[in-house]
Amino acid sequence: MFDETIRTIRAMGGQTRLSVSIQDDEEGYFDRKCPADECLFQFKILSEDWKNKVRDEEVFCPSCRHTASSGQWWTQQQIEHAKKAAISHISGQINRAMVRDAAQWNRQQPRGSLISITMNVNNHPTQVLLPPAAAEPMRLKITCPACECRYAVIGAAFFCPACGYNAADQQFMQSIIGITQSLDALDFVRLAIEDRDAAENTVRLVVESGLQTIVTAFQRYAEALYTAVPNASQARRNAFQNLSEGSDLWKVATGKSYADHIMTDEIAILQKAFQQRHLLAHTQGIVDAAYQNKSGDNRYQIGQRIVIREESVREAARLITKLAGGLLADCQSVRA
Ligand SMILES: [Zn+2]
Ligand SMILES: [Zn+2]
Repeated sequence: MFDETIRTIRAMGGQTRLSVSIQDDEEGYFDRKCPADECLFQFKILSEDWKNKVRDEEVFCPSCRHTASSGQWWTQQQIEHAKKAAISHISGQINRAMVRDAAQWNRQQPRGSLISITMNVNNHPTQVLLPPAAAEPMRLKITCPACECRYAVIGAAFFCPACGYNAADQQFMQSIIGITQSLDALDFVRLAIEDRDAAENTVRLVVESGLQTIVTAFQRYAEALYTAVPNASQARRNAFQNLSEGSDLWKVATGKSYADHIMTDEIAILQKAFQQRHLLAHTQGIVDAAYQNKSGDNRYQIGQRIVIREESVREAARLITKLAGGLLADCQSVRA
């Protein structure tokens, strides 16, 4: 009596392939999630590049550089959607088989007999599922300098999903080169701006923002390297804005501290630069007690404004580049 239904269910006992469509966001990127339990980082990749640039055997997490084959990067939302689509597909098939069985049964009922039994299947139309809307576009879009794969992330994450290249390296160097070039242009600024007050103000702004950029560029770079160190503990937000805290974290994670890469007096110079950045960001450059305690700089009284010189920014850029190179080498050696 339920021949069709039984046959349909038996056929499903094998494997049924069902393709489910996943939607791109409005910029053509689609959502992915790192399958490593301790990471689960969500990112986006341009659909076109996922198809053409990413290899099936190996995809890299932009945050932790975990690798897994291309079928393992579904987000929770995409999995839920696929499950719903599969259930809807299966119940639709069973329902249609039951309708056919019922019709068959009804046809076999003798006509004109005293008692007639008919069978009805409550046949609701199969639910049509729309692909879930993709999550909002992410602002930080990166094009891999090595393979040109385009991906998008939130926060510090720089490994290319297609080739694993670390773009943090490049972004850091670009920032440092940018600062050096704007310092090089200061003589032109002095010549070009006739009003001497305006000229000196502009120079001061360029120099101070250079110092701030150095610290931020280093912070982002150190964070990116730190997340790439296997089994590194979770770092406090902005931990790498602080030279000694960053060095302690780095030591625990890699066995090397900043002192393994730069000399004690060089660390002192950077320490002062980092504390000056803190003042510029939080007190508009006015010296407070914390600066006096932490910077080792005793030229100022509380309430005075710090003066940043072009040469000290250049020196900080040179030392931070040296330190960054050392951290990269540490990171590579613990990953090897
Ligand atoms: Zn990951
Ligand atoms: Zn790449």
